[in-house]
Amino acid sequence: MGARVARSAAATGRLANWLDWPTLPAVNTRQPVTRRAALKGLGGAGLAAAAFVPNIGRAAATPMPAPQAVPGPGESRELILKRVLEAPLIDTHEHLIEEKERLQGTAHPRVPCDDWALLLSHYLDSDFVTAGMPEADMDRVLSPRVDPVAKWPLIAPYWPAVKNTGYAQAVRISIRELYGVEELSSATIRRVQAGYEQTRRPGFYRRILQERARIESCQVNCLTGEPFKQSDMPTLLMQDLSIVGMFAGPDIRKYAAPTGIKVGSLEDWHRVIRWWFDRYATYAVAVKSQHAYHRDIDYARVPPEEAEPVFTKVLQKEPVTPAERRLLEDHLFWQAVDQATARNLPVKLHTGYYAGHNSMPLSRLRRNAGSAAELCRMSPDTKFVFMHLCYPYYEELLAVVKQWANAHVDMCWAWIINPVAAKDYLKKHIVTAPINKLLPFGGDYIPVEPVLGHAMIARRGIARALTELVQEGWLNLADALDLVDPILHQNARQLFRLAQKAGSLRRAPWAK
Ligand SMILES: [Zn+2]
Repeated sequence: MGARVARSAAATGRLANWLDWPTLPAVNTRQPVTRRAALKGLGGAGLAAAAFVPNIGRAAATPMPAPQAVPGPGESRELILKRVLEAPLIDTHEHLIEEKERLQGTAHPRVPCDDWALLLSHYLDSDFVTAGMPEADMDRVLSPRVDPVAKWPLIAPYWPAVKNTGYAQAVRISIRELYGVEELSSATIRRVQAGYEQTRRPGFYRRILQERARIESCQVNCLTGEPFKQSDMPTLLMQDLSIVGMFAGPDIRKYAAPTGIKVGSLEDWHRVIRWWFDRYATYAVAVKSQHAYHRDIDYARVPPEEAEPVFTKVLQKEPVTPAERRLLEDHLFWQAVDQATARNLPVKLHTGYYAGHNSMPLSRLRRNAGSAAELCRMSPDTKFVFMHLCYPYYEELLAVVKQWANAHVDMCWAWIINPVAAKDYLKKHIVTAPINKLLPFGGDYIPVEPVLGHAMIARRGIARALTELVQEGWLNLADALDLVDPILHQNARQLFRLAQKAGSLRRAPWAK
């Protein structure tokens, strides 16, 4: 289904090189070649049996040759890593603009500058500012009017402070993989800029996403105005239907204009909402709301007669109190969610950490997981997808996904917010909640280049989580290997019915 994923040996080798970590001490190193050969001949059941055979100290304790079928720590790691690197990955959350829009350069509002510094614009710029960089300097870094090479001295004083964060690691890996430059510095910045220009050419989305990151398909939440984007690459850049403007505001101009419905009542607005589902439910993979940037996700079911007077005030541009606005949002949230549920579209909700800097009210985020559980209780037929691990409250979200059949967790963005926490979450999820409730990755980027770095961090983290679970004795090797395909692609294919969506998208009126 979808686009084919390139799996060249060279690409796998490059990934493996970078992803490899220091060799763990081998337990039985006396006959490594023979043991490995034996391991290769094992089926799943053999591996399962072998994985729990205690091998520590065996070599010293007995004069007889050790059983030949026991995978050592290094071998488990290699087998898991190989499987994780080869598996196609489904990317369930991006904000990528269309490639043709990106190629317009700074004419597009989401391309502040068309040079290497664009890679810093989403999200690494925030780490620079919280490290102490003046906002005015960051504005210059992202300006199209500053020479790309002159941007390095602006960031150099703060680079040592930020270069190891997940945001920075994704950028550094992408620069290394795409431009062949190991480190950002005054000596390399011209090569980085040359690499940017050589890479940013027609076809680069497919080259980066499919050939390099081996992503089978993405799910894009368009931020450029349209509630649903009719993509030029419909089966690679699959789309969410944005519902936030249906209930927040609501955004009457944006949503009503394409429908031709003149909105004079709440019932008219309900018709507008239905129009969007009638038109796009076949093609959208899910619906999406990032309204948690404005309030908790504690939406009550409010009957239309209570919402109607507030909606009338909004229509007449009369002031409404915060309590009234909340009432209307609550009512309309469920109008949109009930439509999604009726059309079998999962409902993706932002939870946890905020993009940006110097603004996040942590006490509000803290309530997200509790409110998520309440949404699951209120609408058992709705498939909720809670995004970003509700970071930093991922233990609470894990309790929600373990408890509620209609809760799912999407680890999108999490691998670069805190890569170690993401690995920790994955380990805990595997031994706590059903694995079919987990979606492992979304780059969450506007520029395409850092998606590669983020995907490599995620693959490393997934392999590392599985390896550690085996080495710590929580999983046997066969069970760990069996988890790779569900985690990397099977769960997403099933939850979002991707084969069916791809079929519809290939026949979409806008598909070329
Ligand atoms: Zn996002």
